[in-house]
Amino acid sequence: MPEVHAFRRDELRALLAKTGADAALVTRLVNVRYLTGFTGSNGALLVTADAAVLATDGRYITQSELQAPDVERTIVPAVATGLAERAAKNGVERLAFESHDVTVDLAEALATAGPSLTKLGRAVETLRAVKDDEEVTLLREACAVADRAFARLLPSLRAGRTEKEVGRELEALMLEEGGDGPSFETIVASGPNSAVPHHRPTDRVLQHGEFVKLDFGSLYQGYHSDMTRTVALEPVADWQRDVYALVADAQAAGRAALAVGAVCGDVDKAARDVIVAAGHGADYTHSLGHGVGLEIHEAPTLRAGATDTLADRTPVTVEPGVYLAGRGGVRIEDTLVVRADAEPELLTTTTKDLIVL
Ligand code: ZN
Ligand code: ZN
Repeated sequence: MPEVHAFRRDELRALLAKTGADAALVTRLVNVRYLTGFTGSNGALLVTADAAVLATDGRYITQSELQAPDVERTIVPAVATGLAERAAKNGVERLAFESHDVTVDLAEALATAGPSLTKLGRAVETLRAVKDDEEVTLLREACAVADRAFARLLPSLRAGRTEKEVGRELEALMLEEGGDGPSFETIVASGPNSAVPHHRPTDRVLQHGEFVKLDFGSLYQGYHSDMTRTVALEPVADWQRDVYALVADAQAAGRAALAVGAVCGDVDKAARDVIVAAGHGADYTHSLGHGVGLEIHEAPTLRAGATDTLADRTPVTVEPGVYLAGRGGVRIEDTLVVRADAEPELLTTTTKDLIVL
């Protein structure tokens, strides 16, 4: 939909005006995609007040025409410096670039290419935090794929299987449910491994009486879903029920704190306070959540001390955890969309009651 991309480039121009630059050079590929629709592995975009030029290499002539028909396209071997030279030729005096993305070598090359440089900052990432209806639709389906795959996995999630087997089956089920691939490396963590926040699946065999923590998601037309559920293989001990209930309470508090205008650090605190009050603050070692979209982790970040605020139509994850080394851990993660004048929309619909298998 070219009009969507044109609208986004106009939004960028409005931000660009504040930097004092007369053009923006976008080099992060995911940002180029957001602003043009182009998904190739090499590309850069020059946005001036009245034009947009997409640079790529010879492999992508046809693809760039199809995906980004409404921008001028140029084929150059070095896309970023090529566009900087072009900007200089077109009279651009001050070029804003994505200094958080480029290497020192590229920054030096850009500096000699022509216009004086200034930082664009994370302007495109900031725009990307707020989703349009089409993006929310894609995220909703990405989340639904993961929910459906998880429901189908449960009958075969049992003692005797290995973490790797379970992970492979879950990824296959997401593909069957219409996903385009896992949105990140699937986490299946059993027993003591569940106390490791980002454990990679091993050949460890699932045992009775253990937690199994699964953190996974599906890609759907470029958008990523992200959910975590922790199940218990019977019998379930009292300490397991207690830890699970605590994390569920904290997760509910985090979800309840989501609102337009809410300060990200306050949302983190709402959930964290529940865990700290129960004496497990030291067992919760990461931030509460993150934005999600064209990347699995994107702005905003729900972490202690963050001062930015949530805007309408911002999807975020809410994923507190308590990890007891050597015993086991619980994380519960949903993706929600913050909405003005409405409750946050819950995109992850799998139950948060403890599932005992
Ligand atoms: Zn996750
Ligand atoms: Zn996450």
